[in-house]
Formats: sequence, C-alpha cells, structure tokens
Amino acid sequence: MKDRLIYERSVKGRVGYAWPTLDVPRIEPKEILSKTHIRAEAPKLPEVSEFDVVRHFTRLSQDNFSVDTNFYPLGSCTMKYNPKVNEKVAAMDGFAQIHPLQPEQHLQGILQLHWELEQLLSEITGMAAYTLQPSAGAQGELAGIKIILSYFQCKNEKRSTILIPDSAHGTNPATAALSQFKVVEVKSGADGLVDLADLKSKLNEDVAALMLTNPNTLGLFEKDILTITKLLHEVGALVYMDGANMNALLGNARPGDMQVDIMHLNLHKTFSTPHGGGGPGAGPVGVAKHLEDFLPVPRVRKKDGQLFWDYRAEHSIGRLHGFYGNVGVLVRAYTYIRFLGNTGIMRAGKTALINANYIKKKLEHLYPVPYGDLCMHEFVASAKSLKQYGVTAQDVAKRLLDFGFYAPTVYFPLIVEEALMIEPTETESKESLDAFIDAMLAIAEEAKAGLAPEAPQNMPVQRVDEVRAAREPNLRWLPPASSLPTEPPTQALGQSSMRMDSSSQTF
Ligand SMILES: *Cc1c(COP(=O)(O)O)cnc(C)c1O
Repeated sequence: MKDRLIYERSVKGRVGYAWPTLDVPRIEPKEILSKTHIRAEAPKLPEVSEFDVVRHFTRLSQDNFSVDTNFYPLGSCTMKYNPKVNEKVAAMDGFAQIHPLQPEQHLQGILQLHWELEQLLSEITGMAAYTLQPSAGAQGELAGIKIILSYFQCKNEKRSTILIPDSAHGTNPATAALSQFKVVEVKSGADGLVDLADLKSKLNEDVAALMLTNPNTLGLFEKDILTITKLLHEVGALVYMDGANMNALLGNARPGDMQVDIMHLNLHKTFSTPHGGGGPGAGPVGVAKHLEDFLPVPRVRKKDGQLFWDYRAEHSIGRLHGFYGNVGVLVRAYTYIRFLGNTGIMRAGKTALINANYIKKKLEHLYPVPYGDLCMHEFVASAKSLKQYGVTAQDVAKRLLDFGFYAPTVYFPLIVEEALMIEPTETESKESLDAFIDAMLAIAEEAKAGLAPEAPQNMPVQRVDEVRAAREPNLRWLPPASSLPTEPPTQALGQSSMRMDSSSQTF
C-alpha cells in the first residue's frame, strides 16, 4: 500500500505552520544553552503540512479495528465501550493540567477522587483497602505477590510454592516465577473447575498462596470457592484472586465475601477506559484487613478534612509507580462507576452474562463448548470440528475480520483445543450480537463447503508473520536519504498549509 509511513509524504521545505516575522532580536540557541544541550544535527523528521498529517493519521486510524467502530469480542480483555463522558471528565483542567509536584492543598480534588475511588472499589469487591498505583493487571499481580512475600517474612515463615490452575492467564505463573516462587499447577476437572482432590493433594505448609481467576478463563464460576479459600487458610496460605473477569461479578458477588485475601482489578477492562495497543491501564490491588499495612506507599489519608499522601511504611512493599498511578485512567473509571451508580453497575454485570450466553447457545451446534453449560461473561468454544476441512481457529479469527468483526482470543486457555474465547460485554446490542452469530455460522458453512479463502481478504495487510514480528522486531526504520531534511525548517517556506499569526490563533 502507498504512504504507509509519514516519511514517504515528506517534501523538502514543507511545513505545517509558518510563524510571523520576528519582531524581537533573534537569540541563537548557543547564546543561552550549553553545548551539551544543543544537538549537532537536525532531527530527522518528515516535512509535511498539517493536512498531510491529518490525512495520514486519520487513514491509519481507519485501518485499525476499534471498539468505537467494530464489535470486539476479544475474550478475557473485556473490550467494552468507553463512554465519551469519561473523556470529557478526564480532559477537565482540574485533572488534566495539574502537576504531581504541586502542594497537596492544591491537589485536594484529585486526592478526593483517589479517596472515593478506593472506597467504591472496596464496596464493589468487598475488600478492606486498595492501592491505585499499579499500571496494569500484571503489575497488580506483582504487587500482590510482593505483599504475600512480605506477609510471610513478617511472620518468619518460609514458604516457596504458589499454586496456579492450568487454565490461568500466563501472567500468573510469570509473576510468581519472577518473585522466585516455585509454581505448581492445579488441574481442572471434567467440569472445567478447579479439581478439589488435586488441589488438596498439593496443599502443604510450603504453599504461600493460590492464584485463582474467578470466574475462571473458561468463563465459569468456581462454585466451590468457599471450600477452596477455607482449604488454603487451613494450611496458613493466602488466596490471590486475579480479578480480570470481575465484569461478570459486578453487583452480583464480591470476592471479599468469598474470603479472598488479595485481588487485582483491571480498570481498563471492567470499568471501561480505552485500552488496546498495550495501554494505558490501571491494576488496583485490594486486600483484606489483615494485609492493609503491606500496601504500597504513599496512601491517601484524611485528617481534619484535608487529604494528604501518607508515606509511613513499616510493612509496606514500597512504591510501584512514579507519582500516583495512571491518573487519567483512574478518572475515567471513577466517572464510569459514578455514572452507572449501584443499579447500573449491577445491570452491566447481568447484561454481560446474558449476552455471552445468547451467543453461546446460538453457536454451540457448530462450535462446541467443551466446558460448562451456562457461562458467565464469556465462553470458550472450539473450532476443532472444522479441522477436517482444513480450517483452524486461527483461520476463523482471520476470516471474521473480513466480515467486519474483531477476532476472539484464540488458543487460550490452553486446555481447550482450537480455542475461540468469546466475550461480547454488555455494551453490544442484540443486532450486533446477531450479526456476529451470522458471520460465525457463515464461516463454518464456508469451511464445510470447501470454500474457505485465505483470510483476511479485505484488510490493508493479509496474513502476517506474528512470530517473526515478535522475535525480530525492527524498530529502527530510517527514511530514504532523499526525503531527509538537511537543515531545520526556517519560516514561511514553500506550500505551507496554514499561516498562524497572533490574530488567527484560536487554540
Ligand atoms: C488481562 C488479564 C491479565 C493481565 O492484565 P493486564 O492489565 O493486561 O496486565 C491477567 N489475567 C487475566 C485473566 C487477564 O484477562
């Protein structure tokens, strides 16, 4: 395709803005900056007009799937619509223009938001206290594991094993291993839930914690959760809940009531806020009362009506984030929760469940679901039956793009062959669910008739080598020498697209 890179649009001397003629004495950088601060060469930036930039990035954005444009049933990721009011609030000067080094008395508004958000999350999940610092679920897991380490160090107990079910997300064992724990896998039973007999056989005084996702990654609620937490507590171990699937529980059940000791939330999943392309996110960690002292510092506290950051840290695991977390994400999640209110939050959870079960029932005759009859907010179907026609889960996923849908998560969890993990979220209408179902059925029919094309057919790029992109990333593309600027642009050159002077400055 043409013009894939903005450098390819570069024309020597073209500028986006032209400044008015200088009416004050010109000062050269070297007169006010030391040599070390002045670059020897002009940066190799493309020379383009504002309109070139707008066209280029608008086109690129249209090459992308996004929740705002297409149904995005990417299981486990909870790609729900991010209401635009979130953006409006996050862009308010009082949030967007503050600096974390301002004195605390100037920051009472954002401190109040931290304070209230911690309480809202505690209420929704039944945990005693929260830290909002972690930047993502995975970092929340790390915080949780560090809390577990500190807890046992304080008790002078040496425990080195973390139990993790075989359906877990890869970040769970990765986090445990990163903190030098030995990871022992717990098997799932024929019903897709934790196999209690297997769990019991692996419990002993060396177990520090179980990391459990509930509902699990098959979209099934661990109905023996109270027995599970009791068994762990009986050997003095803790229960860490991966709360990435909290959307299913919203207003219906609370991990705190299940005797969970620590959990993380993914605000960018359960509580809207845009995510994709790797960020930004927030992974607050909630703890039961007996672990509150271990939370990262600083913590927001209130004294005589004034909010402040408290750095006291006898048992704290320390700091996880420069300043106070991904504040923009926190503002969006807070706005989302306050807009929905109690009944809205409850309805979001219930509707997510109904939507997932609706799709499941309509698809399971062609895409069987090996585990579970009723699912929670997502389900894992198998494309195994299409293999005889030479079509895999990957092929189905790629073909969906041609039909205007983002692909479900594929090949995860590992315990389902040719897995397609489908999560519609509550924000889709019945019409979009039906259109998705029709596309899935059409793809199966196409496969059976031997007519499945090499998909995708209608995308800007066809099948890409995903492994090579990850193994040999090339991040150092350089523009062809001919399009490089030779000196920094001066003023009013060539075809500038817009003239900016003091009278036309509108922003
Ligand atoms: C998304 C997810 C994670 C990791 O969360 P990030 O915010 O992407 O770091 C962990 N566990 C499960 C089950 C998830 O779906």
